[in-house]
Amino acid sequence: MQPTIAKRDVTKHILKTFNIHMSKKLGQNFLIDENIVNGIVRAADIQQGETVLEIGPGIGTLTQGLAEAGANVVAVELDSRLIEVLAKTLEGYENIRIVHGDILKVNIAAEVDAPRFKVVANLPYYITTPIIMGLLEQRLPVDSLVTMIQKEVAERMVASPGGKEYGALSVAVQYFTKPEIMFAVPPSSFIPSPAVESAVIRCVVRDKPAVDVADERLFFRVVKAAFSQRRKTLNNAMKTMGVAGEVIQQALAAAQIDGTRRGETLSLVEFAAIANAMQLK
Ligand code: SAM
Repeated sequence: MQPTIAKRDVTKHILKTFNIHMSKKLGQNFLIDENIVNGIVRAADIQQGETVLEIGPGIGTLTQGLAEAGANVVAVELDSRLIEVLAKTLEGYENIRIVHGDILKVNIAAEVDAPRFKVVANLPYYITTPIIMGLLEQRLPVDSLVTMIQKEVAERMVASPGGKEYGALSVAVQYFTKPEIMFAVPPSSFIPSPAVESAVIRCVVRDKPAVDVADERLFFRVVKAAFSQRRKTLNNAMKTMGVAGEVIQQALAAAQIDGTRRGETLSLVEFAAIANAMQLK
């Protein structure tokens, strides 16, 4: 149908033909390695006819791989210059629909008209966290997210308590999903080469959150406060929640958590116990 886009010479030819100068601001680093595209498609375990939301199709590199695997792809791209490029590079694929818009603003449920879907993307790194957290918090019917992100951010998402990579992002991602790093990707797999290492992470969305919390907003307030000052004990860090010290002390006591511990040592179960023990008036 169309030549494989995930090649250095094909990508360069497309960029030259359409006179596209890539935007650093929009996180534009395009994949040029067919093996990586195939690896992402495999990690997403695409089944014929299932629906995939792709974020930031660029010139259509990954979109093409997904469509060839049989997915019905809805791809949201912000850069208007790329919309006309995509119309050409993906011409003939009837299972691809391009949406021009900002993924942080489009009404995803309305655009992706399917009972359940997967998210697959080589994300713009400057908004990795808002995109992933936004999709999870909206509680869209997403089965899994397979995304290329900065390797360091992927390591934070899968981190366990105790290490310096473990933080509010680890808790939030693990609350909603089971995350797993699939493989690392070197800068040479993109043009232009990004300054950082990348990794593909698969987050399988849980049927229900990892821990039972009575008040989700309060749970995340506790987590945020506990990590707000990493060197401080819970007794001190949790003061940033803006609730009375005795409320914090009572909650820690009821949850049987020693207030001289640091937030980074707490498991999701322990954070949930503190939030559930907190009686806010
Ligand atoms: N999928 C292509 C690939 O793998 O080669 C391009 C990936 S590139 C890392 C990220 C893409 O996201 C760019 O095409 C960029 O224009 C697009 N993008 C940036 N911000 C966006 C936003 N807020 N909403 C939708 N797309 C965005």
